[in-house]
Amino acid sequence: MKVGIFGGSFNPPHLGHLNSMQIVLKKLGLSKIHMVPAYQNPLKLKTEGPAPEQRLEMSKLAVSSWGSQFEVNDIEIRRGGKSFTIDTIKEFRKSIEAEDLYLIVGMDKWEELEAWKDLKGLLTEANLIVTSRPGFDFPESVESLPPTIKSLVEEFDFNFIELKTGRNIQFVKLNDLEISGTELRKHLRNGKNVEKYIPLGVESYIKANKLYRNLGDRIGDYLKFTEFCSQKLFEKKAIQVKAFDLRKMSAPSEFTIVASGTSTRHTASLAENLMMSVKEEYGLYPQSIEGVDEGRWVVVDYGSLIVHVFYDFIRQEYSIENLWKEGIDLQVKDPTLEK
Ligand code: ATP
Repeated sequence: MKVGIFGGSFNPPHLGHLNSMQIVLKKLGLSKIHMVPAYQNPLKLKTEGPAPEQRLEMSKLAVSSWGSQFEVNDIEIRRGGKSFTIDTIKEFRKSIEAEDLYLIVGMDKWEELEAWKDLKGLLTEANLIVTSRPGFDFPESVESLPPTIKSLVEEFDFNFIELKTGRNIQFVKLNDLEISGTELRKHLRNGKNVEKYIPLGVESYIKANKLYRNLGDRIGDYLKFTEFCSQKLFEKKAIQVKAFDLRKMSAPSEFTIVASGTSTRHTASLAENLMMSVKEEYGLYPQSIEGVDEGRWVVVDYGSLIVHVFYDFIRQEYSIENLWKEGIDLQVKDPTLEK
């Protein structure tokens, strides 16, 4: 009995996920796939959105009409905290042999695997199935493999890698669907129709529970919010903080802030501190945050306010303020300098 484990945020579950599970099940002759929603992805910062229990519920709705070969497992939600796949695999190993266990991930996660906890252990306790994803190519040589995987290769045969651990890695080509949770969340917030991409039951659940709404209602006065965020950036020694009212322009947000850090580390910590201050004062996380790992250009999205925090050296390259020439400069000032 070959068993698949398909982990993810499933925020929300979509047809890309279902397509992948269905094809892998068939192509590899698995008898079952467990869909395992994570409580908290250790490599992602918290963002606004459904509670873990709601993602679990949506996952159940997504597979409800698909028969008993697809099952949703709440092991990571029950465990709480950071969801490390190795812990989950070890639980499954109590009843399933390593050679029969298949961890399924999309090719977009391939490079990231190196940062996963105990990757070697993972590749000892289970086989790995990597599915195609638009924009990501399968590796073509041993040299191009992530270091830990490279060190474990026994035999490399393009779509099949035999590992020294006794397990293997297989690459499976899907009829790719260009869908991602990130894009769908954006569509949902903007009130766009997503029925083509999301199972019906999930869509109804999202509507009934008013999930993925814009943050507007909770933030209220965005001008005040923009000033609040600017002050928080000044307090943490951000430089060149500028805020613009873009309501007279056609821009992706009504307000924007651009600020700089003096190093990549300072830049990332400015964004993280901002998130914490907003959480404290307004009780919410951003809709999305990108670029914190590198700390070169971090974008924190609060809906009608988008905050760009740059490593100053990188900011010079983009001259991003030129985009907002038609906006109103709110002339935000560092309160500590006024004293
Ligand atoms: P996000 O955009 O929020 O990161 P996501 O849509 O990539 O979300 P996850 O829940 O993070 O979805 O992914 C769960 C698993 O599903 C991952 O292994 C991912 O690679 C895979 N996956 C996600 N979307 C697709 C897709 N369209 N086709 C194939 N696999 C996918």
